[in-house]
Amino acid sequence: MFEKLFYRISDLGKLPSRIIASIFKQIVRFVKNVFKFNKSSVSKKAIAIRCVVLVLVAAIITSTAFMLSKNSRIDAICISVGDKVIGYTNSQTDADIAKANALKILGSGNFDNISEAQARVMAHEIKSSSDISDLIVKELCEDYINAYEIYVADKLIGVVKNPNEARDAINNVYTLANKVYSNSTSSFSQSIKLSQRVYPADSKSFTSTEELQTKINSEAKILYAQCEKAYADTPYETVEVQTNTLFVGDSRIRRDGTNGKEYNVNLVTYIDNQKVYTEELMSIPITAPVSRIVERGVRANNLSMGEYTVLQTTGMFCWPVVDLYTVTSPYGHRSLGYHQGIDISGANASGKFIVAGAGGVITEAGWSTGGYGYYVKIDHGNGVETLYAHMLENSIMVNVGDTVVKGQVIGKVGNTGYSFGAHLHFEVRVNGNRLDPAPFLGLQ
Ligand SMILES: [Zn+2]
Repeated sequence: MFEKLFYRISDLGKLPSRIIASIFKQIVRFVKNVFKFNKSSVSKKAIAIRCVVLVLVAAIITSTAFMLSKNSRIDAICISVGDKVIGYTNSQTDADIAKANALKILGSGNFDNISEAQARVMAHEIKSSSDISDLIVKELCEDYINAYEIYVADKLIGVVKNPNEARDAINNVYTLANKVYSNSTSSFSQSIKLSQRVYPADSKSFTSTEELQTKINSEAKILYAQCEKAYADTPYETVEVQTNTLFVGDSRIRRDGTNGKEYNVNLVTYIDNQKVYTEELMSIPITAPVSRIVERGVRANNLSMGEYTVLQTTGMFCWPVVDLYTVTSPYGHRSLGYHQGIDISGANASGKFIVAGAGGVITEAGWSTGGYGYYVKIDHGNGVETLYAHMLENSIMVNVGDTVVKGQVIGKVGNTGYSFGAHLHFEVRVNGNRLDPAPFLGLQ
């Protein structure tokens, strides 16, 4: 164990570890002997002496270890200019950085006499790459001064002789920014640092305050934040409700949604006039959003049927049949007598869905002895009624007394009663008078 410990210490100074280990083994043996006393003959004086000896031994061990570590030498790179040693760096990388910096600062000159060599030096002799760089500049340049490099986020943007020049440039940028962005708090979006370096007094690297100002402006980028007020929409939600007035697979919008409005106070952050972040500080609702309501059909349907779209018209009623759009016989005089409604048909008419032109109550549903065949009549209130005739047998889906909504399927197109070909005969009655349905369907 001791051998291990002192191997480690001797590593620092490259001292013969076996020798040190054996010395310490002797010390340990001595300490053991000091305390190897006879219990019966022990006196307070003897204990005191032994304690003092122990403290002394501990002190010797500590100081020896300290000396060993302090006197230890480490590998280094020695940089020289001509015959003169400039200093030592820790690594080749540091040496390269130091030389490159010095050459950059000097710009021109005789760099041939800068040389490197391997060396072993005490730890405290090692210098940083920037110190070595400064020393090379001092050595190669007769007239040098302490200058200040200005960095924006680690990027060198200029060199000044006096730190006040840098401060002035920064302040000018601030002042200008605050003129533009009044009522806001501004700061730089990047950190600005000054670093003292040795430069030739006549260096071409020195930057004018004006130039520096421009560079700070473009590199450090003013960041400012201000409170802004704005109206915003609060989006409406869509609520789905189930209805047995529609078949499974069908849906219908019962009510359109409308967005609500709110008044917001936001903290908006800009960099170079570009909005980069918005934080909502306060929000006051003005109008609440109105949910959109979608009805989804749950009515069992053993007939295969896809979704249908109810054709809304500009008239009072929606188009009363799905997928058939041709008026095959209008209202009025015809060879078969006065036509009290309109006939609607088209390709594959039989079985197409007939829908309620508007919401109402079913007042008649079933077989007509008067020629309508299977038919349905709906009372829409205010003396207005609609009638749907010649429906397919067993297709009526409503009963007298049922309430229906606009667009609800009530049956299917058929050819029953006094009919010659599948079609829907559609009537509109007002106070019992059968009127031309065309204007009620937005046809005229
Ligand atoms: Zn007809």
